[in-house]
Amino acid sequence: MSSPCSLLECGSTDDRHFEMDDYAGKIARWCPGCGDHAILAAVHRLLAIEQLKPEKTVFVSGIGCSSRFPHYVETYGFHGIHGRALPIATGVKLARPDLDVFVTMGDGDCTSIGAGHWIHAIRYNIDMTVLLLDNNIYGLTKKQTSPTTPQGFKTNTQTKGSFLPPLNPLQTTLGVTNASFVAQTADWMPSHLAATLQAAKAHKGFSFVRILQRCPVFTPDIFAAAIKDPQVTDVLSHPDGIQDANTDKIYKSQVFHNPGDIHEARRLAEGDRVRVGLFFRDESFPRYEELRQVTKRTPEEKMAFINAELDRHAV
Ligand code: SF4
Repeated sequence: MSSPCSLLECGSTDDRHFEMDDYAGKIARWCPGCGDHAILAAVHRLLAIEQLKPEKTVFVSGIGCSSRFPHYVETYGFHGIHGRALPIATGVKLARPDLDVFVTMGDGDCTSIGAGHWIHAIRYNIDMTVLLLDNNIYGLTKKQTSPTTPQGFKTNTQTKGSFLPPLNPLQTTLGVTNASFVAQTADWMPSHLAATLQAAKAHKGFSFVRILQRCPVFTPDIFAAAIKDPQVTDVLSHPDGIQDANTDKIYKSQVFHNPGDIHEARRLAEGDRVRVGLFFRDESFPRYEELRQVTKRTPEEKMAFINAELDRHAV
């Protein structure tokens, strides 16, 4: 576990102000042009905007190119094992609910070996910010097919082309009971990316953000059309959605979408169009860490809490 000790003088009065550079960790070892660099910059910016205390912030990852993230952020960090970022983050948050917890995963890490944890972490709805950096390939292990690899795309494990239609992480997340925040953005849309991260951080619950991420080494053309032509991308717009004037200036294909409408969110998550924005948000959904507090109450308080929960679901 890395620590932010260089930033801290434990016991000092807390009048510190943090700039973006204060959150910069080691020099990132990703390939030149990798979308992870842009996402890292956006995260540093978010931390500075929110003035998150390094000693109260934790980044948890699994294994993959994007899972090197905790090394590059000067907070606490846990570079975990493959597919297990979410259970580790769950443990951190349950033990220390006062911490701000972030999770970074790649598509292989989250949607393949980590898929079981992904589903249940969504349902638990614990308050954390979860970033899926999706480049449609296993990059660290040199171009293996991942669950999000497009059908027919040639990889080192399926040399004649990926056999199956890809898994859609947005549809999957939106299909899980208790999913409370689902958004999509892209590493090449810096302003939209920043606004989306801010909205995700502000959400009380499990904020799931899929970030379309360029891998110029192994999937250089997958997002080429969307990068070159803004018309290829639909931006979800709504007063309760992601607000970003810069995006609106460039991306003229806007789709009015109420992020309170789960059915429409699921419909919009289908198909081949690139859609960015807030698909769904509902802060009223129960959070596991809140429900768990019931065990710390008196018997009378427990009964009152349980009755209130039952009443909430009465039909
Ligand atoms: Fe980024 Fe791809 Fe290089 Fe991995 S292999 S660091 S995802 S460009």
